[in-house]
Amino acid sequence: MIALSSRGLLLLLLLVGFLYAAPRFAMPVEAPIAEETAVSVSNKRIAFSFDDTPRGMGAFLEKDERPRLLIEALETAGIEQAAFFINPGRITPSDNDAEIVASYAAAGHVLANHTAHHSKLASTSVEKFLVDVDEAAEWLDGKPNFRPWFRFPHLDEGSKDKAKRDAVRKALKRRGLMNGYVTVDASDWYMEELALQASKAGQTMDWNALRDLFVESYLESANFSDDLARRTLDRAPVQMILLHDTDLAAMFVDDLAAALKKDGWQIVTADEAYRDPIAFMEPDVEFADGTRIQMLAAERGIGNRWYMRNDQKVAKKLFAERVLRD
Ligand SMILES: [Zn+2]
Repeated sequence: MIALSSRGLLLLLLLVGFLYAAPRFAMPVEAPIAEETAVSVSNKRIAFSFDDTPRGMGAFLEKDERPRLLIEALETAGIEQAAFFINPGRITPSDNDAEIVASYAAAGHVLANHTAHHSKLASTSVEKFLVDVDEAAEWLDGKPNFRPWFRFPHLDEGSKDKAKRDAVRKALKRRGLMNGYVTVDASDWYMEELALQASKAGQTMDWNALRDLFVESYLESANFSDDLARRTLDRAPVQMILLHDTDLAAMFVDDLAAALKKDGWQIVTADEAYRDPIAFMEPDVEFADGTRIQMLAAERGIGNRWYMRNDQKVAKKLFAERVLRD
């Protein structure tokens, strides 16, 4: 465990060369966009979202540091309005998690429903799942900056069970809840898990390399999804990036935002993202799981839908090669 008291200290450690690695930020090489591409490359727009608040400890920050650092990093990044998908069932009277959630709203971000206890639809009944949705809705009701959006835990919208999928879709509509889908994922939760394992095992991690891996993976994933969307819809919808309320997000989201901007992306609000026409589409697929653009592509029989680094074997190997220093 590395105890760091502030973002300033983190940056200082970065400047003095935390551990020993020199920064080696390798931007992914982009294939040139063909001239006949129907949509201009300049209209790449993206919004940010964070799941699982309040989430357990990571490998780097003290419990109260993460939200402070995250709010500060979002401000530095020029991310005016991110969406936080809350699991109120994890809030207890003996912690300050409710204040943390309130601090996100006070900083201009919006709050939405991720079930109270993070139920996975594939492994629970529709009835129990909806009880979990309603418990979260009750907690969120009347909170400042609440939005009537619902994000499926594990992005599982019913998997292969169409009856279940349709029953939940209908029930969400009856409750006035819109599917708070994502379109860009690079499994920050798994990188966080690998960092925790390394920390517990006493392994040394290269902080700069971890930042570079995080930033590079999300940037690549955003461009992957942009390309998939253009191939699928012949237009560029606003992308919605999925992050979690993790140490990694708090430490690196401003670096990620800077890399996205440098690559031609414009950061927009979560409200703007969910006004995109894809917000009103309901893909009819054999396997209702994953990002909205993956599902829309599946519906239209478009191939190459999965971003490689969401494969845990790939992610684990990259983490071991680039971040671990033992
Ligand atoms: Zn979640």
